[in-house]
Amino acid sequence: MSAEDQGKIYDVAVIGAGPAGLTAAMYCARAGLHTALIESISAGGQLAQTEHLENYPGFNQSTSGYELSQIMHEQAESFGVETIYDEVTSVYFDAQPKRLNMAFGTLVARAVIVATGARPAKIGLPREDELKGAGVSYCATCDGNFFRGKDVCIIGGGDTAAADAIYLSRICRKVFLFVRRDVLRATAIYHERLKALPNVEIVWNTIVEEILESDGMVSGVKVLDKKMGTRQVIPLSAIFVAIGTTPNTEFLAGSIELDMHGYIVADEMGKTSVPGVFAAGDVRTKVLRQVSTGVGDGANAADAAAEYLLQLA
Ligand code: NAP
Repeated sequence: MSAEDQGKIYDVAVIGAGPAGLTAAMYCARAGLHTALIESISAGGQLAQTEHLENYPGFNQSTSGYELSQIMHEQAESFGVETIYDEVTSVYFDAQPKRLNMAFGTLVARAVIVATGARPAKIGLPREDELKGAGVSYCATCDGNFFRGKDVCIIGGGDTAAADAIYLSRICRKVFLFVRRDVLRATAIYHERLKALPNVEIVWNTIVEEILESDGMVSGVKVLDKKMGTRQVIPLSAIFVAIGTTPNTEFLAGSIELDMHGYIVADEMGKTSVPGVFAAGDVRTKVLRQVSTGVGDGANAADAAAEYLLQLA
């Protein structure tokens, strides 16, 4: 039976249990608000797939993202947050209270905090979808071990690509890092670390044009050196795509203002184009997408939601 069927109306529904959603839910519950936290898979979001955290204050290299997300979730529930494992498929924000349609029911809440984060972007190459799980991967820490002792590549030049290269260098024989420009977007601290790894080769100004396949598995890539105009085939067993993210906002279609890339247009307090609906974390328009900024967003959005509910009352 859904929450609506039971006539239950939450003060706040937080959608997404990554760092932003977990923080928002905890702050709401601590403020005495009846809070539902809706999560489609398991708590943590992208954080749960992070091997080591080294730029989240108070935690060092020995703490995994998974461990931290479990702690955050337990902490939120200890203040009374109710976790509902379901997927929000569409929303109705035009009335008060607001309605969330989920795969297994409907949930009604006076305020909503959207913290659904973002997922790895696809490169858009032929065979990319077909070979997902057969050598094409979007998560080095999840799939790297399948390619122990093999040659692999990473596409991208940001923090994710750099962290993936460092992780895979310990597992794989050789790691090619294909960077489309002649500079890395990744934070400076990664540059020297990458250069010091003997089995990581940064291949500048290079784009992957084709994924090669043999017996249903990735067998190599055809790459173009944009500067020289030359092409070559590099045999390898896996391609890790790390070219940025796509926001998880499809279920909001038409209900709220999104920017041209699909991120929710929201200010620092998470206020969106819809009164009573707030956005926090990677899903909102912002410059720096980190655990620390997601946590800050979550606290701000919870505060803004509490203020909204006060005025509503
Ligand atoms: P990102 O910072 O947007 O970097 C994406 C990288 O992929 C850039 O180097 C970009 O090249 C390249 N790229 C984009 N489209 C491409 C394409 N079609 N073909 C080839 N290369 C392409 O994405 P991210 O690394 O996933 O990071 C996302 C956010 O999470 C960032 O805010 C980042 O700081 C954060 N993050 C932080 C950490 C950490 O602090 N340890 C770890 C992971 C992620 P150009 O530079 O030419 O655009």
